[in-house]
Amino acid sequence: MSKTRRSFIRNGLLASMIPSVSFATGNYGKVLEEAIDNTSKYSAPSDLKITKVLSASDGHGVFLKVLTNQGIVGYGEGVDAVRGTYYLVKLLGEQLVGKSPLNPNVIFEGFRKGNFFGGAQSGVFPAVLSAFDMAMWDLCGKALGLPIYQLLGGKFRDKILVYCDTQLYAVNNPSPDVYAKVGVEAVSKGYKAIKFDIDWAGDPNRFDRWNWTANDQEVQRMYNSIAAVRKAVGPKIEICVDMHGRYDAPTGRKVAKVMEPLNLMWLEEPIPADNVEVYKTITQETSTPICTGENLYLTYGFARLLSEGATDIIMPDLQKCGGLGEGQRIANLANTYYVPFSPHMVSSYMAAMATAHVCASVPNFQILEWQSQSDTQAKWRDIVKFGGPFIVDGYLPLSNKPGIGVDLNEEGLKKYAVPGEPFFE
Ligand SMILES: [Mg+2]
Repeated sequence: MSKTRRSFIRNGLLASMIPSVSFATGNYGKVLEEAIDNTSKYSAPSDLKITKVLSASDGHGVFLKVLTNQGIVGYGEGVDAVRGTYYLVKLLGEQLVGKSPLNPNVIFEGFRKGNFFGGAQSGVFPAVLSAFDMAMWDLCGKALGLPIYQLLGGKFRDKILVYCDTQLYAVNNPSPDVYAKVGVEAVSKGYKAIKFDIDWAGDPNRFDRWNWTANDQEVQRMYNSIAAVRKAVGPKIEICVDMHGRYDAPTGRKVAKVMEPLNLMWLEEPIPADNVEVYKTITQETSTPICTGENLYLTYGFARLLSEGATDIIMPDLQKCGGLGEGQRIANLANTYYVPFSPHMVSSYMAAMATAHVCASVPNFQILEWQSQSDTQAKWRDIVKFGGPFIVDGYLPLSNKPGIGVDLNEEGLKKYAVPGEPFFE
């Protein structure tokens, strides 16, 4: 029997579920038809089973490869707190052998509640859980012939606004002129929003190595750097400033106030992310929007922050907060408090695209992080299978392919593998 789209639609029950006309605001019908065209007609989703879970690491992230009995491969990625998790992946992966990957939320909850003290675990576990969850959604999409955003309930947007983290670290002691130049360069590439770091442990003006009260000289350095950027890029470019959760409460308060005339998109983690009460104080005192959450995990990690009104913007990292499904649940919780969802992202383009599917699927998405090194360092091209431009005019174009839409390039990743650690074996 011919396995063309026409016969598939004519013969399948699915035909009754496929809209034959486009919705007023989008091309959903077209996307579904294209997805069905792209579906492996030789795959039988109801019989799809996981056969093996393998992992590899470049020392920055952990990459999962989930093999199935139908030749479909799913990829996942976790970041930061993932060093040495090879055996944790192996342990969890063995629990999935023989199981269908088509219920990512059930697998997520089974892992979360069924392993290690009934859901109370933290540390490396949520980051590894994130990698598993991403791979399950990739497999679901590939097996069913749909992009992940469609499986998450559809998309609100076709392209995902990103901000460019300029990766200009204060630790290199750049002058305000260098801050301004880097900002102008990013804007010339089409970025509508840019981010700068202003924390610096080695600032020669510091009085004490361990105390994190910034003195007036340090605060002036921070202000002058960002004021130079604002002057250079003008009022229409969005500027974020990151303090990496290092400083104490009086410093956080002072810097948030000092930055007010510069009209920031946000001030990120002026203090460590742990104390909700202090966050609430700073957030309520200043007109500078406060953003936090890149190291918080699971929906529970954001619940009190949101219910207390302790932050203006949340920035979960979907490669360590629990994954794509949990990322969507966090975004939806934030939406009930009218809080925007602006994910942190320091991983590969595959992970960026996976995150983009979630960003597309929620109304309160604001902006996604993008690292300037992904534009300039060969590694980020080497480790993915993707030929097109990563970013177009400051936006990440959302993939309509089944699954994530960007696969890992295993051969490319091999160049960056951690020596002595098993590589997908
Ligand atoms: Mg940050």
